[in-house]
Amino acid sequence: MSKKKSTKCVHSGGITDDKFFGNITPIYPSITYDYLNSDAYPRYFNTPNQLSVSKKIAELEGTEDALVFGSGLAAVATSMFSFVSSGDHVILQKSLYGGTINLVNTEFKKFNISYDYIDVANLKELNSVLRPNTKIIYIESPSNPLLSITDIKSISNFSKKNNLISIIDNTFSSPINQNPANLGIDLIIHSATKYLGGHSDILAGTVCGSNELISIIKKSGLNFGSNISEYISWLLERSIKTLSVRVLKQNDNALKIANFLNNHNMINKVYYPGLSSHDKHDIAKKQMTGGFGGMVSFELKNSISSDEFVKSLQVIQPTMSLAGVESTITSPAKTSHKKMDPKERDEIGITKNLLRFSVGIEDVDDLINDLSNALKLNG
Ligand SMILES: *Cc1c(COP(=O)(O)O)cnc(C)c1O
Repeated sequence: MSKKKSTKCVHSGGITDDKFFGNITPIYPSITYDYLNSDAYPRYFNTPNQLSVSKKIAELEGTEDALVFGSGLAAVATSMFSFVSSGDHVILQKSLYGGTINLVNTEFKKFNISYDYIDVANLKELNSVLRPNTKIIYIESPSNPLLSITDIKSISNFSKKNNLISIIDNTFSSPINQNPANLGIDLIIHSATKYLGGHSDILAGTVCGSNELISIIKKSGLNFGSNISEYISWLLERSIKTLSVRVLKQNDNALKIANFLNNHNMINKVYYPGLSSHDKHDIAKKQMTGGFGGMVSFELKNSISSDEFVKSLQVIQPTMSLAGVESTITSPAKTSHKKMDPKERDEIGITKNLLRFSVGIEDVDDLINDLSNALKLNG
């Protein structure tokens, strides 16, 4: 029976408790198994709770298989290093999660893997950096922190035409809002630390794809060893049961908040793919079939101090990370992009007054009141 996503969130991938007839997936904390009957070992990605949560995630993304890792960046690094060797070349979208950029810039050089960061919307630029040794094209949409949108279908077409492996970081959308496998992308990565976990208490990552590609990543992954424990696998599976209700509520709240901010005279600019003023709103509408997500970035007027504004908030909390049930806010210039040259940072839109708001599941009126009061106090 084909199931809808909210049903998959609750039921896919669970383990039936045949012994005690409990209602939910049991935890199997054993790291060692009777070798006459099983080859399970956590570093081989094949213990019961790892398989159970992987199956749930693969069904949500609509792929044949998935693997879970100890962090989002472990999923990114293991996936990329499974398909490149010394001398190869990788094409990357210009705006990516800071940790991914740091991985590429520091580790690829050591292995003589070359790369180009480009505006992937520009087909001319794409074709001009393509080389015979190009292996991967890597994108992120919506991107962190400016919610830029990449046309996923056009990237998967380019990738297929040139025999590349296409990879997307789908963290900001979650599988509820966007399923890139349906648009022809080969590998879909999530930092499960974010929406999949959703409660700011799990560090994990995942990659979804075909049996063929996932088996290749599995082979490299057991050498790199960045696996997840049974406890965290279980907790992640438990958390995903509410993914759909959480994300749909976050979508609703975020759209209302983006509209509120967009109409406020103390806000310079709002970045949200659900606003018709977003430069790629039409593409977002086509590919984000579930909603536009819970992340909203905005720039305060120059006369306001972003620190004082954040200190005036009473419900929304200042934190580095995102995608929990609680509303949180961060200054990318002071956290993820702190090390960047301030002038370059301004040029790409990450100004000192830019804030990235991770909208939670609270009552939206309370969130809007909180923002409104803080703006009044600092106006
Ligand atoms: C957080 C994040 C990552 C890295 O995930 P970790 O779980 O922190 O390793 C990768 N991509 C995006 C878009 C993220 O937000």
